[in-house]
Amino acid sequence: MTSKLALFLSVSAYAQIVAGLNSALYVYLPNSFMKAIHEALPLLQSPQKIFITTHHKPDGDAIGSMLGLYHYLVKKGHSVTAVSPSEVPDFLTWMPGFEHLLNFEAESKKSEEALSNAELIFCVDFNDYSRTKYMTLQLQRAAAPKILIDHHLLPAAQWDYGMSDPDRSSTCEMIYDFINLCGDHELIDPVIGACLYTGVLTDTGSFRFNSTTASTHRMVADLKDKGLEHAVIHEYINDSWSLKRMQFLGYILLERMEIFGKYNAGLIALSRQDLKLFDTTTGDTEGLVNYPLSIKGIRFSTLITERADEVKMSFRSKGDFDVSSFAREHFSGGGHFNASGGRSNLSFSETVARFKEILSDIHPR
Ligand code: 5GP
Ligand code: MN
Repeated sequence: MTSKLALFLSVSAYAQIVAGLNSALYVYLPNSFMKAIHEALPLLQSPQKIFITTHHKPDGDAIGSMLGLYHYLVKKGHSVTAVSPSEVPDFLTWMPGFEHLLNFEAESKKSEEALSNAELIFCVDFNDYSRTKYMTLQLQRAAAPKILIDHHLLPAAQWDYGMSDPDRSSTCEMIYDFINLCGDHELIDPVIGACLYTGVLTDTGSFRFNSTTASTHRMVADLKDKGLEHAVIHEYINDSWSLKRMQFLGYILLERMEIFGKYNAGLIALSRQDLKLFDTTTGDTEGLVNYPLSIKGIRFSTLITERADEVKMSFRSKGDFDVSSFAREHFSGGGHFNASGGRSNLSFSETVARFKEILSDIHPR
């Protein structure tokens, strides 16, 4: 909790904000390598050309935080370009503002232009340039001051300003904090609310993970007061499957899930042929990694997916098995304590074999 000291509460603006909120406001201390985000606020006093981006293969929190921030900054009179490093999955394309998003892989020229013209860059829901994959070099070279808003462990020392807090449920919750920190609570409307709710909903597993706190719920209560239609969003996120996707799930659970009772672990390994069988699209594998955890006693779950350009791994755990360290140590990845990801340079089948070897070595419980 050291990152949430009341150090800045002496600054009167913050005290006013805190007094005016029904949610406990986090106050973020600077990391040693970047200034606290409140020091960047003067840069936002006049209209700026702002570039926002997030991680490759964006999820609900990535797109929700990017678009929530987008709508807020546009309301403040800035000229904003939001760029996703890769395609947005279908279950998120309903989100207000999606039509303004650029996809770096498909619209690289426009995206690069916006990045080089930017006067300010926001990076949300990731904490290392390499997580933007094909945008990494451009981001590194971009001259504008860079601001980080993120909740993953171990941020790289690449930002000028930022707020980074692994105790926060989601980056969307931090965008809510950021808007409040700017003294703009009254600008949060149903559109911003819909974006932010999406990220909180998806990153907390519908409010079930340990990362869900009282202030997460207070934020949602506040968004409800401001007109959030939560049931519609649950429907967009959960009830938008194609029949093929549902059949794909049935096939995977029956044919591709392995349970290692001895290690309280489950594995789903999907080859490229598996993905082709059901014409899967981006997003169809979303959430698959959670299924083994619904089996009694399973506390560690892994999804290995053979993608066109890499073998991707997703890890989830319950309790005290740290999958962030696991991903970092064995599969060039990282993330959160109970949810992380990584990749392998080996072939798909070699990766599966290697994973099983490691599993028998570490004996997770
Ligand atoms: P997912 O399994 O959904 O891809 O990722 C789970 C969590 O781990 C997400 O919060 C994601 O941002 C993070 N993550 C996934 N892959 C990587 C990676 O390669 N490196 C790091 N540092 N984090 C990752
Ligand atoms: Mn997130």
